[in-house]
Amino acid sequence: MAAKVYLVVYAIIMLQLSLVPYICQSKLIDSSFGFLNSLEGSTKGQENVDGLHQLKSYLAKFGYLENQVVFENDNLFDEKLEKAIKTYQRNYKLSVTGHLDGATITQMMKPRCGCPDIINGRNTMRNKDMYRTSLYVLGNTTWPSSKYNLTYKIQINASVTGTQNMRSIVEESLRKWAQYSPFTFLEVTDGSQTDLIFEVSQDRGDGTPFDGHGGLLALSSYPTGGWSHYDPSESWTSDDPRPDQMDLYSVVLHEIGHLLGVDHTSVQSAVMFPIINAGQKKRDLQPDDIQGIEALYHSS
Ligand SMILES: [Zn+2]
Repeated sequence: MAAKVYLVVYAIIMLQLSLVPYICQSKLIDSSFGFLNSLEGSTKGQENVDGLHQLKSYLAKFGYLENQVVFENDNLFDEKLEKAIKTYQRNYKLSVTGHLDGATITQMMKPRCGCPDIINGRNTMRNKDMYRTSLYVLGNTTWPSSKYNLTYKIQINASVTGTQNMRSIVEESLRKWAQYSPFTFLEVTDGSQTDLIFEVSQDRGDGTPFDGHGGLLALSSYPTGGWSHYDPSESWTSDDPRPDQMDLYSVVLHEIGHLLGVDHTSVQSAVMFPIINAGQKKRDLQPDDIQGIEALYHSS
């Protein structure tokens, strides 16, 4: 009898273990980045690779193919695409092969922030010492000192599971960034205008809708835009995330970085790394994040 029970328990555990990779993988393939799965192995010189135009749109969206208009029949793996893939691989510390190897495809398919990695030709995922230079070149990527006391508003969508604790998550996350910057934050609950607005909404904030489950998780503006939008189709949670859930806290903490002017980073452990896996938690600012905000507001 005991042996029978043992066998049943063993079978159940093995079944669950065998399903975990299937569940995780199928979620990724079902996401809006799922098209990437069929592109593995593609390399320069290939013509008419089905779905390659979608990869070009993906890379253009995140700044890797600047000013390139992508047509639906543009399925040629040309030199520009190879260069863009190499830059992506460098940013994500992958082997710089220039072709679509398995590691690159796996990385590209992961859920991520909608903000670009390269803005107007400026690769943001670089050493934070470069902030001074980029501020000089671009200007306007920080809040002026007259706007260090920011008001904010939260628009919660009660029907979206896992976002009910948005208010306390935003409050705690703002406090974490305020520790290393000159800001104070005050929530406003009446109808008046605020400097920052957090919203769980199908609208990405730039006039286009989010892409459904997986893919883009959130999108925020740089100073002094003040909007931060979260995709209602994600499996959000504010508890310890299961392997198939996205940690709302980690994503809010990341997006507030953008609201204050902090860019993406290549440092994987940092909150400002653009990609977060389902089930992963990043609820504390790391040295690279702190270096970023301090470079912006304590360097003059
Ligand atoms: Zn981001």
